[in-house]
Amino acid sequence: MANTEHISLDLVATVGGRFTEAPIERLPDAQALRAWLDIHALAIEACGDADLEAARTLREALYDLVEAAATNRAPDPAALTTVNAHAAHPSVQPTMVWDKRNGFSLDRAPLSADQALNLIARDAIDLLTGPERDRLHQCEADTCGTVFVVSGGGKPRRWCSSSSCGNRERVRAHRATKR
Ligand SMILES: [Zn+2]
Repeated sequence: MANTEHISLDLVATVGGRFTEAPIERLPDAQALRAWLDIHALAIEACGDADLEAARTLREALYDLVEAAATNRAPDPAALTTVNAHAAHPSVQPTMVWDKRNGFSLDRAPLSADQALNLIARDAIDLLTGPERDRLHQCEADTCGTVFVVSGGGKPRRWCSSSSCGNRERVRAHRATKR
Protein backbone atom coordinates (compact mmCIF):
# COMPACT_ATOMS: atom_id res chain seq x y z
CA MET A 1 0.00 0.00 0.00
CA ALA A 2 2.96 2.33 -0.26
CA ASN A 3 1.33 4.14 -3.12
CA THR A 4 2.05 7.80 -2.49
CA GLU A 5 5.02 9.85 -1.45
CA HIS A 6 3.14 10.86 1.65
CA ILE A 7 2.98 8.40 4.45
CA SER A 8 0.13 10.40 5.97
CA LEU A 9 -2.00 9.66 2.89
CA ASP A 10 -0.89 6.04 2.97
CA LEU A 11 -2.11 5.81 6.54
CA VAL A 12 -5.46 7.32 5.59
CA ALA A 13 -5.70 4.70 2.82
CA THR A 14 -5.55 1.86 5.35
CA VAL A 15 -9.32 2.14 5.43
CA GLY A 16 -10.77 0.95 2.14
CA GLY A 17 -14.27 1.58 0.88
CA ARG A 18 -14.94 4.40 3.33
CA PHE A 19 -18.30 5.13 1.78
CA THR A 20 -19.57 1.57 1.91
CA GLU A 21 -21.53 -0.02 4.74
CA ALA A 22 -18.57 -2.24 5.57
CA PRO A 23 -15.31 -0.30 5.19
CA ILE A 24 -12.17 -2.45 5.00
CA GLU A 25 -9.88 -2.12 8.03
CA ARG A 26 -6.33 -2.85 6.91
CA LEU A 27 -4.93 -2.39 10.41
CA PRO A 28 -7.01 -4.94 12.29
CA ASP A 29 -4.54 -5.40 15.15
CA ALA A 30 -1.29 -4.11 16.63
CA GLN A 31 0.71 -6.66 14.66
CA ALA A 32 -0.70 -5.34 11.40
CA LEU A 33 0.18 -1.78 12.39
CA ARG A 34 3.71 -2.82 13.17
CA ALA A 35 4.07 -4.58 9.82
CA TRP A 36 2.59 -1.57 8.02
CA LEU A 37 5.05 0.80 9.72
CA ASP A 38 7.86 -1.59 8.89
CA ILE A 39 7.19 -1.51 5.14
CA HIS A 40 7.03 2.29 5.39
CA ALA A 41 10.57 2.38 6.81
CA LEU A 42 9.36 3.16 10.32
CA ALA A 43 10.36 0.06 12.23
CA ILE A 44 9.14 0.30 15.81
CA GLU A 45 10.36 -1.54 18.86
CA ALA A 46 7.00 -2.54 20.27
CA CYS A 47 3.37 -2.08 19.47
CA GLY A 48 0.40 -2.56 21.75
CA ASP A 49 -3.33 -2.00 21.61
CA ALA A 50 -2.98 1.57 22.91
CA ASP A 51 -0.62 2.33 20.00
CA LEU A 52 -3.10 0.85 17.56
CA GLU A 53 -5.84 3.01 19.05
CA ALA A 54 -3.62 6.11 18.79
CA ALA A 55 -2.73 5.31 15.18
CA ARG A 56 -6.37 4.88 14.22
CA THR A 57 -7.36 8.11 15.95
CA LEU A 58 -4.56 9.95 14.14
CA ARG A 59 -5.63 8.30 10.89
CA GLU A 60 -9.23 9.51 11.16
CA ALA A 61 -8.05 13.01 12.09
CA LEU A 62 -5.77 13.00 9.05
CA TYR A 63 -8.63 11.83 6.90
CA ASP A 64 -10.75 14.74 8.03
CA LEU A 65 -8.00 17.25 7.24
CA VAL A 66 -7.02 15.94 3.83
CA GLU A 67 -10.66 15.48 2.84
CA ALA A 68 -11.35 19.05 3.97
CA ALA A 69 -8.47 20.26 1.79
CA ALA A 70 -9.59 18.17 -1.19
CA THR A 71 -13.20 19.34 -0.98
CA ASN A 72 -12.62 22.93 0.13
CA ARG A 73 -14.42 22.71 3.43
CA ALA A 74 -13.36 23.71 6.92
CA PRO A 75 -11.69 20.92 8.91
CA ASP A 76 -13.00 19.58 12.19
CA PRO A 77 -11.16 21.59 14.90
CA ALA A 78 -10.72 18.43 16.98
CA ALA A 79 -8.96 16.73 14.07
CA LEU A 80 -6.60 19.67 13.73
CA THR A 81 -5.82 19.47 17.44
CA THR A 82 -5.15 15.72 17.25
CA VAL A 83 -2.69 16.03 14.37
CA ASN A 84 -0.90 18.99 15.94
CA ALA A 85 -0.61 17.14 19.25
CA HIS A 86 1.09 14.20 17.53
CA ALA A 87 3.38 16.53 15.59
CA ALA A 88 4.42 18.26 18.80
CA HIS A 89 5.82 15.13 20.45
CA PRO A 90 9.59 15.14 20.72
CA SER A 91 10.88 14.05 17.37
CA VAL A 92 13.68 11.76 16.37
CA GLN A 93 17.00 13.38 15.67
CA PRO A 94 18.58 11.81 12.61
CA THR A 95 22.05 10.37 13.06
CA MET A 96 24.24 9.27 10.20
CA VAL A 97 27.03 6.80 10.04
CA TRP A 98 29.66 6.08 7.45
CA ASP A 99 31.26 2.84 6.46
CA LYS A 100 33.41 1.78 3.56
CA ARG A 101 30.83 -0.45 1.95
CA ASN A 102 27.71 1.72 2.09
CA GLY A 103 29.07 5.22 2.49
CA PHE A 104 26.70 7.47 4.43
CA SER A 105 23.52 6.04 5.78
CA LEU A 106 20.94 6.83 8.42
CA ASP A 107 21.55 5.14 11.69
CA ARG A 108 18.06 4.73 12.97
CA ALA A 109 17.34 2.74 16.05
CA PRO A 110 13.83 1.29 16.15
CA LEU A 111 11.34 4.02 17.01
CA SER A 112 8.68 4.05 19.64
CA ALA A 113 5.15 3.96 18.23
CA ASP A 114 4.74 7.57 19.38
CA GLN A 115 7.76 8.67 17.38
CA ALA A 116 6.46 6.92 14.29
CA LEU A 117 3.11 8.69 14.60
CA ASN A 118 4.98 11.93 15.18
CA LEU A 119 6.73 11.57 11.82
CA ILE A 120 3.43 10.79 10.10
CA ALA A 121 1.76 13.86 11.63
CA ARG A 122 4.67 16.02 10.50
CA ASP A 123 4.37 14.62 7.01
CA ALA A 124 0.73 15.73 7.01
CA ILE A 125 1.71 19.24 8.10
CA ASP A 126 4.21 19.42 5.22
CA LEU A 127 1.54 18.21 2.83
CA LEU A 128 -1.23 20.52 4.01
CA THR A 129 0.88 23.65 4.23
CA GLY A 130 2.88 23.06 1.05
CA PRO A 131 2.20 23.36 -2.68
CA GLU A 132 0.72 19.86 -2.94
CA ARG A 133 -2.30 20.82 -0.87
CA ASP A 134 -3.98 22.31 -3.93
CA ARG A 135 -3.50 19.04 -5.81
CA LEU A 136 -5.25 16.87 -3.24
CA HIS A 137 -8.09 15.01 -4.87
CA GLN A 138 -10.69 12.63 -3.52
CA CYS A 139 -11.20 9.42 -5.48
CA GLU A 140 -14.32 9.75 -7.59
CA ALA A 141 -15.49 6.18 -7.06
CA ASP A 142 -18.65 6.56 -5.01
CA THR A 143 -17.62 3.93 -2.45
CA CYS A 144 -14.02 4.90 -1.87
CA GLY A 145 -13.16 8.23 -0.25
CA THR A 146 -9.38 7.87 -0.61
CA VAL A 147 -7.52 11.15 -0.97
CA PHE A 148 -4.40 11.41 -3.13
CA VAL A 149 -2.14 13.97 -4.77
CA VAL A 150 -2.70 14.39 -8.49
CA SER A 151 0.54 14.80 -10.38
CA GLY A 152 1.03 17.89 -12.48
CA GLY A 153 0.70 17.75 -16.26
CA GLY A 154 -1.26 15.34 -18.43
CA LYS A 155 -4.78 14.23 -17.80
CA PRO A 156 -5.54 14.53 -14.07
CA ARG A 157 -6.20 11.24 -12.31
CA ARG A 158 -9.77 10.79 -11.14
CA TRP A 159 -9.45 7.62 -9.11
CA CYS A 160 -7.10 6.42 -6.44
CA SER A 161 -4.52 3.80 -7.30
CA SER A 162 -6.63 0.99 -5.89
CA SER A 163 -7.10 -1.18 -8.96
CA SER A 164 -10.73 -1.77 -8.12
CA CYS A 165 -11.75 1.90 -8.24
CA GLY A 166 -10.57 2.95 -11.68
CA ASN A 167 -11.51 -0.42 -13.17
CA ARG A 168 -15.03 -0.45 -11.79
CA GLU A 169 -15.65 3.07 -13.05
CA ARG A 170 -14.19 2.26 -16.46
CA VAL A 171 -16.40 -0.80 -16.79
CA ARG A 172 -19.41 1.27 -15.83
CA ALA A 173 -18.52 3.97 -18.35
CA HIS A 174 -17.95 1.34 -21.02
CA ARG A 175 -21.37 -0.23 -20.38
CA ALA A 176 -22.99 3.19 -20.44
CA THR A 177 -21.53 3.97 -23.88
CA LYS A 178 -22.66 0.58 -25.19
CA ARG A 179 -26.25 1.14 -24.12
ZN1 LIG B 1 -10.64 4.89 -4.92
